[in-house]
Formats: sequence, C-alpha cells, structure tokens
Amino acid sequence: MNKKNIRFASASVDFYFGTSFGTLKQIVDPSRTILITDQNVWDLHQKRFRGWKTIVVPPGEASKVQATVDTVINQLIQMAADRTYSLVGVGGGVVTDLTGYIASVYMRGIPFGFVPTTVLALVDASIGGKNGIDVGAYKNMVGVIRQPRFILQDIIFLNTLPQKEWANGFAEIIKHAAIANASVFRYLEEHGPAYFQKHKKEACALIQKNALLKAAIVQKDEEERSLRKLLNFGHTLGHAIENAYGLSHGEAISIGMAKAADISSQLTGFKGSSRLKELLQRYHLPVSHSFNTDAVIRILSADKKKDGNAINYILLEKIGKAVIRPIPIVDFQKYLS
Ligand code: ADP
Ligand code: ZN
Repeated sequence: MNKKNIRFASASVDFYFGTSFGTLKQIVDPSRTILITDQNVWDLHQKRFRGWKTIVVPPGEASKVQATVDTVINQLIQMAADRTYSLVGVGGGVVTDLTGYIASVYMRGIPFGFVPTTVLALVDASIGGKNGIDVGAYKNMVGVIRQPRFILQDIIFLNTLPQKEWANGFAEIIKHAAIANASVFRYLEEHGPAYFQKHKKEACALIQKNALLKAAIVQKDEEERSLRKLLNFGHTLGHAIENAYGLSHGEAISIGMAKAADISSQLTGFKGSSRLKELLQRYHLPVSHSFNTDAVIRILSADKKKDGNAINYILLEKIGKAVIRPIPIVDFQKYLS
C-alpha cells in the first residue's frame, strides 16, 4: 500500500496507490458504507463485493442521468442510510461521477470515496472532484465540484477490462503526456499498449504517474480558471463529435487531439503533429473522421466554454507544453475543412 494525501483548495484526498481492494474495510466502516457499482463490474467481480451493502446500476453513459439518481436515492432511503454513512463508487467514470453527485446531494451531502476500475477512471474521471450527470444530449450539464475522501487504486480490476476500454484510457494518458510531460510521451513511444496490458507493474506505475499529473494540475486550479483548462486538449472538438457520431470518448478526443495538433502547426509553429498522430494510432485510436463541418461548427457555437465569438482552444507549442488560444468561430471553417 502506498498512501499519499493530496491537498486541494477545498479538501484533501487520500490516494491509496497499488492497494488491494480488501483494504477498503480498514478505510471505511462496512456497516455504514454503501458501494455503488454497475452491472458489468458486479457480474465480473461479484466475489469482491461479499460482505458489503451494494447498489448496482445499469452500465453505460445512459445511466448518468437524473432518473438513476432518483432510483439510487430511493434505495438509500430504504436501506436507512443516514448522514453517518459513506458511499463508495466502484466502477468506471460513469459510476464515479454518479456516486460523487449522489453523495453530494443526498441529505445535503455525505462522505464518499472511489475505487476506479477502468484506465480512464483511474487516470482521469475519478480525480479532480467534478461529479455530475448528463441532461439529454448535454454531457455533464448538471453537477458539483466536491472532492472524494479517498481514491483506492487496485489494478486487479483491469484483468477483465475489454480492449476498447484500454484504448479509451490511453487517449487520456497520451493527452496528459502531450500537454504536460514529454518524458512520459517518449516512454509511451518506447512501449506499445500490449506492453502495459502484459506488464501490470509498469501499467500500475504509469497510471499512478498520470493520476498525480492530473492531481497536480487540479491542485493549482481546482475551479478551472486557467491551468486546468489545458486538460480540455482535444475535448472541444471531441465532445462535439462524440455523441453525434456514436464515438467512444477516447476515439472522439483522439480525433480532437489530432485536429488540434494540425491547427497548432499553423498557429504556434508546433512541429510534433505527425509524432502525436503516430502515437495515437499505435494505441489503437483514430486520428481523423469525416464529420460534417457545418454541423460541428453549430455545436461548437453552443459550447459552454465559449467566450464571446471565440472558442478558447488548447494548442500545443511542443510535446509536453500546451497553451490556450482564443480562436474566432468564423476561422474554424478553414481549420476544420
Ligand atoms: P469510463 O470509465 O470510460 O468513463 P464507464 O464507467 O462507462 O466509462 O466504463 C466503461 C465500460 O467498462 C462500462 O461498460 C463498464 O461497465 C465497463 N467496466 C468498468 N470497469 C470494468 C472492469 N474492470 N472490467 C470490465 N468492464 C469494466
Ligand atoms: Zn476526457
């Protein structure tokens, strides 16, 4: 067990890296804790939930909605969960987002923690305190920023993770490397995805490094006024095409990062565009898509992060160094075509 307390502006979080799930009973009291997981994780890891009160939600992004919140809250009431209880989300980003949100509103807020079970949730979704739900086509439209008490990482859960979900997680790992850490980028170039799926110790170290990298950015700017925006690299275009074209989050942001790299070549003199695209492809991620430019620009125009008639776009200056640049929406036509 490797415990590290990380202090954010609003609260501090205990990170338990490389820690067995069994340790959870020393972190929270099983008689006053309710685990929340999804059906897939439950089916594959049922034995680990023995002895815990557990609520199981349907898997997938479609669950990240108010109706699931209502159902879970009714179950909490039936289980007589009071303010002395904690919730622990055991699952991917959908489960951690839902759990953090429910724990933030149930009885005006009870403590919560996370056991992320996907690469994406381990390096990204579980970290930073953003919890929330989707409303119709609008992703993360309703939510809170509230930190979990703890995050426990046990990569034993990754033994059952489908190939596609590894690629999704690697999209965020490559993003972190591209915006903030050139040496991680080179390390990812030295070893392909198969290496990390086979060598669990190295995967665990890479995941820990990425989790700390994200935590360090959030520590400096929890409310996303400046630095934290860099984590949106690839996400502006990514979110605009994700649901519209039925792409996974990793695929969508990979296409977004590739496009942002090309735009960077024109606006910042970035020289690493081909290098970034090669790395994305090596990790089984797409770097282009025949999306409808006009439709995408319409969606971008309604983006919640828009600033007047410009979009604050994240560009690369070099591998490991990102910058924010306002780009007028009218200019997007030429960059996207
Ligand atoms: P993400 O973590 O990518 O944000 P989800 O929470 O939707 O998104 O998880 C992605 C998918 O992986 C879901 O279908 C979920 O049920 C499944 N999943 C989560 N963890 C595991 C695991 N350890 N093994 C197998 N499938 C998992
Ligand atoms: Zn993302």
